[in-house]
Amino acid sequence: MEEISFRTKIFIGEHALDRLNQIIAERIFIVTDPYIEKSGMTAEVTSRLQSKDNEYQIFSDIVPDPPIETVAAGVKVIQEFNPSVLIAIGGGSAIDAAKAMKDFAIRLSPQQKDMKFIAIPTTSGTGTEVTSFSVITDEVNHVKHPLVSDALLPDEAILDTHLVKSVPPTITADTGMDVLTHAIEAYVSTKANDFSDAFAEKAVQLIFDYLPRCYKDGNDLVAREKVHHASCLAGLAFNMVGLGINHSIAHVCGAQFHIPHGRMNALLLTPVIEYNAGLQGLTHQSFSAAAKKYAQLARVSGLPAANVRVGINSLIQHINQLKRELRMPTSLRACGLKKEQVISALAAISEAALKDGCTATNPRIPTNKEIETIVERLY
Ligand code: NAD
Repeated sequence: MEEISFRTKIFIGEHALDRLNQIIAERIFIVTDPYIEKSGMTAEVTSRLQSKDNEYQIFSDIVPDPPIETVAAGVKVIQEFNPSVLIAIGGGSAIDAAKAMKDFAIRLSPQQKDMKFIAIPTTSGTGTEVTSFSVITDEVNHVKHPLVSDALLPDEAILDTHLVKSVPPTITADTGMDVLTHAIEAYVSTKANDFSDAFAEKAVQLIFDYLPRCYKDGNDLVAREKVHHASCLAGLAFNMVGLGINHSIAHVCGAQFHIPHGRMNALLLTPVIEYNAGLQGLTHQSFSAAAKKYAQLARVSGLPAANVRVGINSLIQHINQLKRELRMPTSLRACGLKKEQVISALAAISEAALKDGCTATNPRIPTNKEIETIVERLY
């Protein structure tokens, strides 16, 4: 038996941020990054909280791939300020850091357990506004730690398209490919079900149709809204059924090589599909469940899929074409790495990727050697 529940209330549509107008007489702790504050987006939040007996405090020290130390600093402020509401506005880094701050603060001071959590994403990528995950980085050991607990689920998510207009093309590409990876990994997860498939299929269709438009014209609000929704839908899908080795390897390589999360996922996406589908040597009768699912995804995305092999190949070609349109690097070399850097890290990468929580739901459990081969091929 499995239970499916959706705890996060989601606000969408024009003026979704106006939900904040309903907050009255609360102590609000706002977590964000310096860019979001400087750009005036934090002011969009505070202007809706003013003159209603609210008190607020802003913490804007979040950096990409938030380190443990930043989380600890935020916990300290929570303990001093004692907020009743925590609002995280920013990309996955700000929201994940705030999730971890809330969790640790409540562990230290259980009386703060009723603190409400509102997530306002300003990138369309991680889906963290609806997930029970938070990824925190140990900068000393170059490791990303995914925290997983239902306690991390936001109470509310506000998807306001105007906030993602300013995302520059490179970050639009990186974060959009993160969405695609979430949806595809959830679709072939060993726990996938009809509900998660519905979210994942829709997310993939929206990314294929609208991500290139967002990349070409950030002010295309129709496309921006579709991709923002795709991000959330993919988050709902993987939160239900988990991810796979694309993310396990990306967590380790991203922290080791300092490559943005979505870009690292994009590099791995087609090699991992090829590995999971395991087409080599397979006859028509012996296609794996994952191979059939990839072909099904091609079919529902309107790509040629006369049989399983054709479906998988057209999915791979379409993803490669998308990456070209988004001008994404196609190798670790193009990301500026030296070959020796990659080779010397292979053993540690495979070791850590196998231990990563995402590996358990991958359709095929790899060996150390197989992971090393996937990563080596990326150079
Ligand atoms: P991010 O939050 O690190 O932000 C990347 C950059 O984009 C930052 O410089 C930020 O200031 C800028 N930015 C954010 N919004 C902007 C806007 N509207 N306009 C212009 N610039 C803007 O990037 P991200 O990809 O959203 O998050 C990545 C983090 O999330 C990683 O740490 C990754 O491991 C984690 N992650 C978490 C989950 C989860 O479920 N919790 C899932 C995937 C990834």
